[in-house]
Amino acid sequence: MKYIFVTGGVVSSLGKGLTAASLGTLLEHRGLKVCLQKFDPYLNVDPGTMNPYQHGEVYVLDDGTETDLDLGHYERFTHVQLTKLNNLTSGRVYLNVLERERKGGYLGKTVQVIPHITDEIQDRIRLVAETSKADVLITEIGGTTGDIEGLPFLEAIREFALEQGPHNALFIHVTYVPFIKAAGELKTKPTQQSVAKLREIGIAPQILVCRCDRPLAKDVRQKISLFCNVPYEAVIEERDVEYSIYEVPLMLQRERMDELVCQRLQLDQPAGDMSRWQDTIRKLIAPQHRVRIGVVGKYTGLPDAYKSVYEAITHGGVANDCGVEVERIEAEQIEREGAEKVLKGLGGILVPGGFGDRGIEGKIAAAQYARVHQLPYLGLCLGMQIATIEFARHVLNLEKAHSTEFDATTPHPVIALLEEQQAVTEMGGTMRLGSQEIQLKMDSRAARLYGAFVVHERHRHRYEFNNRYRPAFEAAGFHLCGTSHGGELVELIELAGHPFFMACQFHPEFRSKPHAAHPLFQGFIAAVLQRQQTRGVSG
Ligand code: GLN
Repeated sequence: MKYIFVTGGVVSSLGKGLTAASLGTLLEHRGLKVCLQKFDPYLNVDPGTMNPYQHGEVYVLDDGTETDLDLGHYERFTHVQLTKLNNLTSGRVYLNVLERERKGGYLGKTVQVIPHITDEIQDRIRLVAETSKADVLITEIGGTTGDIEGLPFLEAIREFALEQGPHNALFIHVTYVPFIKAAGELKTKPTQQSVAKLREIGIAPQILVCRCDRPLAKDVRQKISLFCNVPYEAVIEERDVEYSIYEVPLMLQRERMDELVCQRLQLDQPAGDMSRWQDTIRKLIAPQHRVRIGVVGKYTGLPDAYKSVYEAITHGGVANDCGVEVERIEAEQIEREGAEKVLKGLGGILVPGGFGDRGIEGKIAAAQYARVHQLPYLGLCLGMQIATIEFARHVLNLEKAHSTEFDATTPHPVIALLEEQQAVTEMGGTMRLGSQEIQLKMDSRAARLYGAFVVHERHRHRYEFNNRYRPAFEAAGFHLCGTSHGGELVELIELAGHPFFMACQFHPEFRSKPHAAHPLFQGFIAAVLQRQQTRGVSG
């Protein structure tokens, strides 16, 4: 077993997760079985209750674990099957240690950061290594070198790597080489200082991945090599990508990073064929078609808040050889200016998941606009609940229909809480979470797109379609095409007489990949494209 540890320096948001995932891709293409895990030094026990402004989207795994969005990159870029073991926060580490202490598990000893916290971290590395049966385990340490809360993780991996020996463990440091305008040059000092900080605690990174906005000239590489104590070829340029994050693996391959990693870890694996990735990039850069869709949400100013949704849209585009321009629309803008003004000219509308009542009426207006104007609509989780409320109000004439999440006293609770959720008071990890079986109606569009009648999809919600209203909706052409195993819960709806109006209670975006777009996203973009082609309009 080989271990790679990825740390980050200078600033956050350098794309450590993408770098780790891209390295995973390259190693997989060399025929290695790869596993990835993420350590998050913050004190939240899991990211499930964190606000998207803080942390971007909450990514959900098959087993229902609510995790960091970097795990989404891991799953999209590689074939890893992640579970709750693959994400560890300081909060979880301390909780485990303190619970053990309360139960007398330390036999009255003084419980300390070293060795108890660090041992707990190392135990997790071993556990993931054993259960994954991978050849290489890539562990990304969140945060930035120098953060106080990151220290126990760094100490833990230092000790762990020492134990493994030099050919079995490797430290990669992702750092920033800024261009300073006044000086007209790239500056290496932040990188030097960040590496010095790591060496202070006993970690000497062997590969430096340098994030920069322009090429690293030879003299800059030489300087970094000399002052950071790494060979010249271990200074890897990772420039800002021009078109897409899916260029990163190709960029790192050009820099021969995977070759270097294999040399260092004494892995004798030939280089892989990356032609599928190249083809994807080709379709991203120069697609045959182009469409424009609107994503109507609440956190539209923040690209990370709907990360997987945006990625899945891109994948759906690639599958149709179609570039998708996404207009991020603040739902409240529709409330202020009206749907017609904001949505006119779009080729399709997507309403993603969400919580809280800000912007709800704007989303309902967007669903109505899509329904009435025969515009392709894809609703995800809250987006299905929105479509339900809209249909109830404007087609079934249930005027004040609502979800009890937003109006507890509505006379028509078409979306309501499951009985088992009514008693829940703890917010962390208590929703309907993770992969569940869904049965699709034989004659549904969804079954055609999936090419299957039984599928498994990930969930993260509390509220449900209220079964009392099933007959009324069905009779009016709001078809309940997907239900949970046993038929109790509505999972997917389709509108009759509409070219593409589909919404699901689950989150298909978490299962989409660049070369294997999720069928619902593929179908959605295909419908947008078809409408555009038949109408001869652009956008
Ligand atoms: N707020 C809704 C619920 O809890 C939808 C959740 C979501 O979109 N993820 O059911």
